[in-house]
Amino acid sequence: MAKILRCGDLMPGCNFVAEGKDVAEVMAKGAEHAKKDHGIATIPPEMVQKVQAAIRDK
Ligand SMILES: [Zn+2]
Repeated sequence: MAKILRCGDLMPGCNFVAEGKDVAEVMAKGAEHAKKDHGIATIPPEMVQKVQAAIRDK
């Protein structure tokens, strides 16, 4: 099942939505977005957990 991540769940005010065929693809898109738009070069482990918890089935 396709997965979706709304960045606004983690970063209030952000409208970015990452969609992918699986969690890995969504994480990759989310990491790219975090780097480009939030200046987060490396996502800390505690944030990875929050991101994974925020990923939903589409
Ligand atoms: Zn964002």
